[in-house]
Amino acid sequence: MLEKREFYINGEWVAPAEARDHEVIDPSKEEACAVISLASAADVDKAVAAAKAAFPDWMMTPVEERIALVEKFLEIYKARAEDVAQAITMEMGAPLDLARSSQWGAGYAHTKAFVKAAKSFDWIKPLGDHAPDTMIVHEAVGVCALITPWNWPMNQISLKVIAAAIAGCTMVLKPSEESPLDAMIFAECMHDAGFPKGVFNLVNGDGAVTGDALTGHPDVDMVSFTGSTRAGIAISQNAAKSLKKVHLELGGKGANIVFADADEKAVKRGVMHMMNNTGQSCNAPSRMLVQREIYDQAVETAAAAADKVAVGDAHEEGRHIGPVVNEAQWNKIQGLIQTGIDEGARLVAGGLGRPDGMNRGFFVKPTVFADVTNDMTIAREEIFGPVLTMIPFDTEEEAVNIANDTVYGLTNYVQTQDGAKANRVALKLRSGMVEMNGQPRGAGAPFGGMKQSGNGREGGVWGIEDFTEVKAIGGWA
Ligand code: NAD
Repeated sequence: MLEKREFYINGEWVAPAEARDHEVIDPSKEEACAVISLASAADVDKAVAAAKAAFPDWMMTPVEERIALVEKFLEIYKARAEDVAQAITMEMGAPLDLARSSQWGAGYAHTKAFVKAAKSFDWIKPLGDHAPDTMIVHEAVGVCALITPWNWPMNQISLKVIAAAIAGCTMVLKPSEESPLDAMIFAECMHDAGFPKGVFNLVNGDGAVTGDALTGHPDVDMVSFTGSTRAGIAISQNAAKSLKKVHLELGGKGANIVFADADEKAVKRGVMHMMNNTGQSCNAPSRMLVQREIYDQAVETAAAAADKVAVGDAHEEGRHIGPVVNEAQWNKIQGLIQTGIDEGARLVAGGLGRPDGMNRGFFVKPTVFADVTNDMTIAREEIFGPVLTMIPFDTEEEAVNIANDTVYGLTNYVQTQDGAKANRVALKLRSGMVEMNGQPRGAGAPFGGMKQSGNGREGGVWGIEDFTEVKAIGGWA
């Protein structure tokens, strides 16, 4: 078993102040694969002090130099691709193929997009011709606490760390205690790229002690958090005590509106998208709204597609979905499937228990519920597992109303071959992102939500901007 108890603070790996061990469980095997330490408040103090000491110099380091270090990081991160993928597979159960492609790849793509965005970013510019001596400057917010979840770990870590570093912030990253190992490889890449001491620090830990100490720390200027809405609220309350800037990327309950004139692959594509990463994505299209005239056919197609989704050990190569991250999540999903049955939804694929022949590992059957109404628990709560709900609708207006009838507002999806209708509906959906007809948002597009899905945007110029303060300077010579 791997022993990884140290934290990365002020340019070196250091032992924790006090012993608080935590086992990382491989969800395919239900066995401990590593032991880490959970940081105490004293460790957090040390990491924040290092970030605070490094800030004045890093903030004034020319942006070209900061970008050059990120480009060096990118080369190293590329060379460590297999290490990152193996760690992700082991600790959170993404199948190797997915870990090598989208999981590792998201970190690579975001970092590349940030480099491009940083080169065209308006770091300093005059207010306008009418006030040529008034300069508008984007400067770093300061010391940032970055707290990330386990489901797309490299995606979320790169969206925060790289943007903060380019903006001139210093930081303490606390990855999820479920997925600390890939984050430690990320830290090794940052070290090898040659970032100055204290710019980037990493402590492992839980929410209750480590996260709490970080988000309430008097020397932290900004908290950037991705995770559950529940934790987002707790973090906001803690950070409010010293009025820190808070950026939140939280949960979602995306609608995928399939109109009768959608292309013939739309339903199957929606199922596969839902099952990707074993349904553990905040932007999963978990409510499929289908126009009445094609509803029965769509249910049949979706059930058949879900039945064909293979489930397997994440360490094995090939196209399948892996386990869910841990036992608590497995139990929560089983509970919600039972609730769906109890509330009268029609189970057409999957259901309770593990897939046939799989007695070990946190595996869930790819599940589809039909005849769901939007007031059922399975249509309202984020399930975070491979469970699709299908809801019929008659009119465009009804579809928009159902889609918007949720506390969340992260991503929605529209399937129709009528371009004018697609655009019209996209503009009415209350979410930070809309994807239509299987077309993803472009690399470097802003990522984030409305309502209880959070605030602020990550990625590209918007992601860099979030880690800056805007300063107006009059009388610029
Ligand atoms: P979680 O909220 O339990 O944990 C996320 C992180 O926050 C972990 O590092 C955890 O240790 C820490 N944390 C928990 N409570 C804390 C507290 N009180 N103070 C400080 N830190 C605390 O979420 P999770 O189970 O790891 O991730 C799944 C959730 O993340 C889902 O709800 C999902 O929708 C959401 N998510 C959102 C996005 C997005 O960009 N909007 C992306 C991925 C995941």
